[in-house]
Amino acid sequence: MRFRLFKIKGITINIHITWLIVFFLFTWSLASGYFPAVLPGWTGAAYWAVGALATVLLFAGVLLHELAHSLVSIRRKIKVESITLFIFGGVSSIEREPQDPTSELLIALAGPLVSLVIAGISYLIATFSPEPISSALFSYLFWINLVLAGFNLIPAFPLDGGRVLRAILWKVKKDQRKATRIASAVGLVFAYLLILLGFFWLLRGDLIDGIWFIILGWFLQSSTEGSYQQLVVRQSLEGLQVLQIMSKELPMVPPNISLEQLAQEHFLDRTETSFLVAWGDQIEGIVTLSDMRKVPRDQWARETVRTVMTPLDQVEKVSPGDSTYDALMKMTARGVGRLPVMENGQIVGIITRQGLLDAIRIRAELRNRDNLGRTK
Ligand SMILES: [Zn+2]
Repeated sequence: MRFRLFKIKGITINIHITWLIVFFLFTWSLASGYFPAVLPGWTGAAYWAVGALATVLLFAGVLLHELAHSLVSIRRKIKVESITLFIFGGVSSIEREPQDPTSELLIALAGPLVSLVIAGISYLIATFSPEPISSALFSYLFWINLVLAGFNLIPAFPLDGGRVLRAILWKVKKDQRKATRIASAVGLVFAYLLILLGFFWLLRGDLIDGIWFIILGWFLQSSTEGSYQQLVVRQSLEGLQVLQIMSKELPMVPPNISLEQLAQEHFLDRTETSFLVAWGDQIEGIVTLSDMRKVPRDQWARETVRTVMTPLDQVEKVSPGDSTYDALMKMTARGVGRLPVMENGQIVGIITRQGLLDAIRIRAELRNRDNLGRTK
């Protein structure tokens, strides 16, 4: 769930719904803790106003950090679709990963560098401003941007620091996969350290910091594992087209049978989780196990396949020449286990998640055998 804010240099800036919660939490903690401590004697409303202002400026800093990554990406010929601000800061939706270590290094360094510059400017304003309010506000922005740069520079992939580490290893070892593996391992170590630190804080009775560190560690752990797996999958499917692994055997059912029949005669004695729905040689749609589950069990005798199937024009499709990685991304995005392969308006085959997984496994085995051969 996200809201569109505005567009800058072709990049859409979005706000994720979780950001609203964080906005409130930050404003609340500033209005009830930090500002009353450094600016005593104000009214509650004034603390809330300056707290909200500080939070807006904090997220402006996060946005500038992300924009720095994005603008350098565009410079290095990598398209950036959008930036989304969410609970942990910002994420840029970048079309693909950098193709060379130098691009990766420059893109990764740009964000923390901008945060450090903002911290520096805030420090100067805080030091030289005669007004206590701008002094208090900019001291806070100095610290928070310093923390932002510092946290992101932790050498834990996929954080910026981890990307810097990967770029250096990539340059030295000339192997992106190996570099990612090492940077991810370091990332996991840091993730578990954060979680441990969180538990330590909890035991000391500091609930908020404890929970915050555990969530951060857990978030880092899952994104580290996710990015590494994604790279492995993408590399194993490199150069493999849908045509090469699609199945031409199409399991079909007629549209006029009941769901009861579909269950008893088709799903029960096969390993398929979905069928093409066809009347003669006219394909009408696709029916899956999860379509069936939407109908209560006691209505299966009355409902037909046609009423629950997804019509062909609404089904996500692929072409024989598409890359298998794109097909997998489509399946994941749609939450389906198979996609029909269409050519000139005709279904020519079907590509399944199982088929893709087999291809990944076989290619991984072959790659391992290659590596063994090379080390001898
Ligand atoms: Zn960053």
